[in-house]
Amino acid sequence: MNRFTRRFDKGVTLTSSTRSPRQAGSDADVIVVGAGPAGSTAATYLARAGLDVLLLEKSTFPRPKVCGDGLTPRGVKQLNDLGVDTRQEAGWLHNKGLRVLAGGVSLDLEWPELANFPNYGVVRPRRDFDELLVRHAEQAGARLQEDTTITGAVTDDRTGRVTGVSGHVREGGKGGVKRPVTFCAPLTLACDGVSARVALSLGIQKRDDRPIGVAVRRYYTSPRTNDDYLESHLELWDRSQPGDPKLLPGYGWIFGMGDGTSNVGLGILSTSRAFGSTDYRALLRSWLDSTPQEWGFRECNADGGVGGAALPMGFNRTPHYRPGLLLVGDAGGMVNPFNGEGIAYAMESAAIAARCAIQSLARSGNAAEQALRAYPVAMKQALGSYFRIGNTFSKAIGHPTVMRIATRHGLPRKTLMAFLLKLLANLYDPRDGELSDRLITAMTRLTPSV
Ligand SMILES: Cc1cc2nc3c(=O)[nH]c(=O)nc-3n(C[C@H](O)[C@H](O)[C@H](O)COP(=O)(O)OP(=O)(O)OC[C@H]3O[C@@H](n4cnc5c(N)ncnc54)[C@H](O)[C@@H]3O)c2cc1C
Repeated sequence: MNRFTRRFDKGVTLTSSTRSPRQAGSDADVIVVGAGPAGSTAATYLARAGLDVLLLEKSTFPRPKVCGDGLTPRGVKQLNDLGVDTRQEAGWLHNKGLRVLAGGVSLDLEWPELANFPNYGVVRPRRDFDELLVRHAEQAGARLQEDTTITGAVTDDRTGRVTGVSGHVREGGKGGVKRPVTFCAPLTLACDGVSARVALSLGIQKRDDRPIGVAVRRYYTSPRTNDDYLESHLELWDRSQPGDPKLLPGYGWIFGMGDGTSNVGLGILSTSRAFGSTDYRALLRSWLDSTPQEWGFRECNADGGVGGAALPMGFNRTPHYRPGLLLVGDAGGMVNPFNGEGIAYAMESAAIAARCAIQSLARSGNAAEQALRAYPVAMKQALGSYFRIGNTFSKAIGHPTVMRIATRHGLPRKTLMAFLLKLLANLYDPRDGELSDRLITAMTRLTPSV
């Protein structure tokens, strides 16, 4: 299939005669910067709609990405919507819920049975996961260009509108020469992750009034590699000051990878006083040293080093729209402030951005712009109220007393924890659910958007 003959959904074929040709002087209909979950998802939907999509990525696939590798049913729903086969037969490691531990209590909570979400989560290494998604985008017709680092947006001097991006292509592999490049298109989607180079080049800074987290992880060869549950440890103690241990707002996780290893890590919120002064690698080491020896989380079983990165939460980079540009996924600060989950939200925002982009590119002038302006509105409608509650929650648990009361008194109550699981993982039925679903729905309806 060439560039002018692409499939539209599952039937109609668009040709150069049924679709207006690409704008003169443009390299594509849409430029997507970054081929993580946000970029590959957006590129897939856009290419399926018959658009010419140029997907620019600084690395080459397969490539690793520091992550916990876990998806709740919210993330699985996004994969299913995209047409990815998530059955176990297709190589996916399913889990049936979340195990929560604190204060010597351990509780297995199954993912809720809901009309709009599957009842299973999955685990898959990002090296594999991200490649699978990018190949999906290519199969849909997107043009992937690897080894291409974008350093900033290109704007129209007169109007300020984003007309493309510039950066460099590395030629001849690692250590090869860097050739400067510029690409032009009527629309750019910045899906470049937490580094947000495109947004920063336009002065769109991260917001200090919204939370951010830091997370680190490492793989270990472990007998705990097969587990039906994602496991989260709610008590993380900072014991760096002798005689003054502090309970930190965050959690540690143990996700069995099913291949002989476990992905083990921890994430901490910016809302505690300890944030910024914590040595996260040392914290991971001291937490893992306190786990049973037989689990294997000791230096001799480590598989690779400790990797870490920031978690931009609760819409901590706005505006999500500038003329000619949309911010998607981590680039727009879309990690869930309740639980640090980001893949589902990267894919969800990508689907919404693609919908707005498709509408925009089918119009001209002000009507085209109107369709793009609908993106931040749609994002606020989808997640704004929920994120505002999450941002407040993250502030509250920044106080060690609140965190202590929550873990001590909340955990032994299974009904309360089942409700919290729905709230924290954003898994509820807004329409026909049970009482807990109706309660969360009411909370989000009553709370104004961020
Ligand atoms: C330690 C840790 C554990 C985590 N665990 C989980 C988890 O278990 N589950 C979960 O759902 N989320 C988790 N997250 C969050 C999750 O990793 C992110 O939210 C998610 O990857 C966001 O997807 P994205 O596509 O927006 O960005 P990314 O996945 O960061 O993708 C951005 C892409 O853009 C490319 N890129 C970046 N800059 C440029 C540039 N200048 N030019 C060209 N290309 C560029 C990158 O190479 C990358 O391919 C974790 C994060 C961390 C740090």
